[in-house]
Amino acid sequence: MDDAQLLIELHKPNRRLGPGSETMTRQALALSGLLGRPGLEVADLGCGTGASAVVLAEQLDVRITAVDLFPEFLDELQRRAEGRGVATRITTLAASFDALPFEPESFDAIWSEGAIYNLGFEAGVKGWRSFLKPGGILAVSEITWLTAERPTELQAHWDREYPEIDRASGKLAVLERHGFTPVGYFPLPASCWLEDYYRPLRARFPLFLEQNAHSAAARACVAAEEREIALYERHSAHVSYGFYIARKSLE
Ligand code: SAH
Repeated sequence: MDDAQLLIELHKPNRRLGPGSETMTRQALALSGLLGRPGLEVADLGCGTGASAVVLAEQLDVRITAVDLFPEFLDELQRRAEGRGVATRITTLAASFDALPFEPESFDAIWSEGAIYNLGFEAGVKGWRSFLKPGGILAVSEITWLTAERPTELQAHWDREYPEIDRASGKLAVLERHGFTPVGYFPLPASCWLEDYYRPLRARFPLFLEQNAHSAAARACVAAEEREIALYERHSAHVSYGFYIARKSLE
């Protein structure tokens, strides 16, 4: 099994594939102005196993197109949506969000939690804008510095992994530069990492290792996750995801 397959197998049973929580999805929804407007078209890009899609489907009487690169995650999303009684509102699509097969101005809202970094925040904001109707809402979470000064170890890690990491003011400026009016921002609390994401992930390590006969690749995969968790635990005051909600401006 290659590394990508191992990662899919490790993460697939988990409710979330990145930091976040249902409460924070609802908080972003409250800021978005989408509540109480039936019949809208919404896309959830990089939806994974459905962490946000099922909440959107419960809170909004809308059609949701849930897009992810990996059909394995979409199967899990489908199962979960059926369990929560919202499957009829969600259509899944296996596609890459850097080449989306949609007409321009197809959506009233584009939602994306913990995924836009795969494309890069600026490229995502620029590229996805055309799929929004005028006045449409973009709601994305993105890794964000919480402080002006960071420990060297943490700075070096993120400079290597994702040099586009910035403070909220930088991310808001990107949105403004590319034709959006920010309508809300909040940072995710540490519980979104520790309790909602890392705890269930860690709980899965023993079974994952057993299922893979403790192969070197499986052990390396777990070790990499453990390093990431330890780094976050040491420096949680400095970094989080920020939730950015912005309206496509008419210009
Ligand atoms: N939104 C989910 C998943 C976040 S993890 C949650 O919050 O739990 C990032 C997701 O983006 C993964 O499911 C991954 O498969 C997906 N992804 C990565 N690159 C992608 C691409 N180019 N196109 C579509 N999805 C992609």
